[in-house]
Amino acid sequence: MSSTFLGDDADLLVRGGRIHTFDEAGSVATAIAVRDGVIVATDAAAEALSARETLELDGRTAIPGINDAHLHAAWLGARWHHLFFSDTPPEEQPTGRLVTTAGERRSALRRAWRLLAELGITSYTEPGIGPGEDDGETGCFGTDMLESYAELHREGAQTARVTLLRLFGTIDGESSLDDFRAGLPVPPPSTDPRWLAIPGVKIFADGIPPMATAWTSDPYPDGTTGHLLTRGDADPLSAFRQMIALAGGRGLQIAVHATGDRSIDEFLIALEQSGETTPRGPHYIVHGDLATPDQIRRAERLGVGFAVQPLIAAHTHSWAAVQLGEARVAAAWPLSAMLSSGATTTLTSDAPIATPDWRPSLDASLALLAADGRADDAEIRRRLLRAMTADAAVQDGASAWKGTLEAGKVADVTVLDEDPCAPGRAFADLAVERTIVDGRTVFARG
Ligand SMILES: [Zn+2]
Repeated sequence: MSSTFLGDDADLLVRGGRIHTFDEAGSVATAIAVRDGVIVATDAAAEALSARETLELDGRTAIPGINDAHLHAAWLGARWHHLFFSDTPPEEQPTGRLVTTAGERRSALRRAWRLLAELGITSYTEPGIGPGEDDGETGCFGTDMLESYAELHREGAQTARVTLLRLFGTIDGESSLDDFRAGLPVPPPSTDPRWLAIPGVKIFADGIPPMATAWTSDPYPDGTTGHLLTRGDADPLSAFRQMIALAGGRGLQIAVHATGDRSIDEFLIALEQSGETTPRGPHYIVHGDLATPDQIRRAERLGVGFAVQPLIAAHTHSWAAVQLGEARVAAAWPLSAMLSSGATTTLTSDAPIATPDWRPSLDASLALLAADGRADDAEIRRRLLRAMTADAAVQDGASAWKGTLEAGKVADVTVLDEDPCAPGRAFADLAVERTIVDGRTVFARG
């Protein structure tokens, strides 16, 4: 079982550079030792061990592996290298069926994993796969894709850890209470949750502000306010509440796509009334574009998190302003308030909508915070990087064993050419030198 040769205390020693552990205290270590995929010692205690292999950082910086807490990997792999926010003109964007056969589905996942390894991403959340998409346009979100995931998982082919949310409606569309009720009891494939965890469900509450489909209190210029996408029972709101009660009653984690203040409010009200809490990962709001200060406080009180996308904010800001007006758009994407609250907040790409590259996403985060008067310094950079490592592990319900570089945690490590916490430099200028998952190198530059 162990790959340790006789006489060696560790499989791998990483040393000779700055190692940001992103533990609570913000410790910087000088070395970590890894055995069987797990960090067994740090600093001098690590250096004192004999190791089968030593990785000299030569002054480079190591951080915990990046965890993109909302990334559609199957879709990304099937579409690559076309992103929605990119130079690809609309006529060259892939349309219709992207994957049909098992081979195509497996290739899409493998392609995504190669790409994520190159970017230093060691964990991600695949947000929404299930029977509601079995006849879906792309082929990327149906039950077949869940099977391809499970198959590659059993083969040990993964180079990133996955948290997968089940979906009982259509992606970015409607869901019926009947389908939700029928799908929920169907057991997901049995898996090793350290590599493929399936802890909960995704529910689409509304659309997005630029399309005037976010459900809002104040109307858009055409007088509409958007609406809930849930269907069944007496009305959409009652269907929405029942879905939350059904999933919560099963102890499942609930992630709700909610951009408008009305849908965010109704999700919080449903949780306030049911008193539902999950045993591991928190329930959370995906996007949260128009979350109000009061809603952020209520989320914190309820233990509800936010998974937000600073690059989508950057790309759609002026487009959203047309629908929301300058005042509302100025208050949109309240990243600063989210980060300074106690609500678990993760920074995510929503790839292939935006690039899966976390570096421009962190630069977009700095820009959002600068607009709120927050200066670029080491502390805020550490906070942003924790949102993509330690806090993402909290969202995964996995903070006991991943997300920081401490003894007892898995050795998921991203090595960068320079220190990402040094202010005044674009994150986009950092190079990913090496990606280590479970103590094993899955990407090395050059
Ligand atoms: Zn998404």
